Amino acid sequence: MSIKDSFYEHVAQTSDAPMGLEIERAEGPFIYTTQGNKYVDFISGIAVSSLGHRHPEVVEAVKRQVDRHLHVMVYGEFIQEPQSKYAELLTSQLPGSLDRIYFVSSGTEANEGALKLAKKHTGRHKFVAFHHGYHGDTHGSLSVTGRDVYRDPYLPLLPDVHFLDFNSFEGLETIDEETAAVIMEPVQGEGGIIPAQKEWLQAVRKRCDEVGALLIFDEIQTGFYRTGSLFAFQEYGVVPDIMSMAKAMGGGMPMGAFVSSSEIFESFKHDPPLNHVTTFGGHPVSCAAAHATLSELLSDDYGAKAKKIEQIVRNKLTAAGITEIRGVGAMLGMELEDRELTQKVVEECMDNGIILGWTLHSNTLVRLAPPLIIDEELLQSTLKTINRTVKKYS
Ligand code: PMP
Repeated sequence: MSIKDSFYEHVAQTSDAPMGLEIERAEGPFIYTTQGNKYVDFISGIAVSSLGHRHPEVVEAVKRQVDRHLHVMVYGEFIQEPQSKYAELLTSQLPGSLDRIYFVSSGTEANEGALKLAKKHTGRHKFVAFHHGYHGDTHGSLSVTGRDVYRDPYLPLLPDVHFLDFNSFEGLETIDEETAAVIMEPVQGEGGIIPAQKEWLQAVRKRCDEVGALLIFDEIQTGFYRTGSLFAFQEYGVVPDIMSMAKAMGGGMPMGAFVSSSEIFESFKHDPPLNHVTTFGGHPVSCAAAHATLSELLSDDYGAKAKKIEQIVRNKLTAAGITEIRGVGAMLGMELEDRELTQKVVEECMDNGIILGWTLHSNTLVRLAPPLIIDEELLQSTLKTINRTVKKYS
C-alpha cells in the first residue's frame, strides 16, 4: 500500500478534504513534498515553526538530549536538567508573579490545567469566556470555546460557563464573586485574528481584581514573539494570573505549559496530593528543544522582525487594494469578500507553492503567519503572488 493510500485508509481524518501534501522534508521557511514540489510555509504549521523548520540550534539540542535520556518518570517526580534549565530561563523573562511553570505537551492540555488550577485555588467553578474564542478540543477547553457549532455535538460540557462579546464593555458584571476565572486570548486567533483593545483588557483585569476572579491569558498562538513581544500581554501592560502557552514554544517539538505564581500553584500540591499529574508533560527532549528555541529568540531582536513583517505585509497588500488586514506582528489575516473567493485564493496559492489557510471560526479570512526568520525577498515575492491571485478572482 502506498503511503498516500494508508493515510487515507488508516489515519483518522477530521474533514473530507485534507490538504494532503505528502511531506519529504522541511527546512527553514520551506516544505518539500515527495512529488518534488517546494512550498513556502506561510502559516508556520499554524504558528509553530516561528524559527522556521529544523532550526539548527533546535535540532542540535534535540540530538544532544536524545543521546542522554528520553522519558524517565511522570511529571514532577525526578529532577531533570532540561526542565529545570528551561523553567529558569523562561521565568527570567516573565514578571515576578509568573514564577512557576507546569509543563504539558499541547495547547489544550495547558488550558485544561489552567482551568483546574483556577478552580482549585479559588474554590469556585464559574468561568467567563468570549464569543469566537478558541482554547482547544478537549472537554474543558471546548467548554470555554466560543462557537456553538463546535460545542453542540459534545453537550453537556462544563456547567456555569458564560460567554461575553470580545472587546465589549457590556456584561463585565457577569464576572462576579462566584467566578473562578476569565479565560481569553489577547489576540483571538481562530476567531479571525482580532486583537483585544487595550482599555477593554485593562477593564477586564480591573473587574477580575474587584471580585477575586483569576485572569487566564491563552497565549498559545500569540506567544514567542508572534505578535512582536515575547508574549502579547507585555504589549498591553496587563499581567494575567495564569498564562497558557504551546505551539512555537518547542520549536517544532510537542510542548506546552501553564504558568502562574508559586502561591497559586500551592493548591495543586494538596487535597489530595498528586491531583493533577501527567506522564509526558515536560518531556526532556521537548524541554531541550524549547530551551534552544527561547535562547535563539532572545539572542536576536525577533520582536522587531515580527513588526517588520507586519509593516511589509500591510504595505504590500494595501497597495494591491486589499483593505482589511487584521492582526499584529506576524499574526495577521486578510479579510476577503466571501467564502468562495477565500477558498479560491488559498487553493491557487497552494498550486503556486504557498501554504495559506483560514481560521476555524471564519471562512472569509486568509491566515498569514510566516516564520519570523523569513527574509525580505521571499516575503515580498510571496506577497506578490498572493496579490496577483486575489486580483485574478476579485
Ligand atoms: N488555544 C489557542 C489560542 C489556539 O490557537 C490553539 C490551537 N489552534 C489551542 C489553544 C489548542 O492547542 P493544541 O492544538 O496544541 O491543543
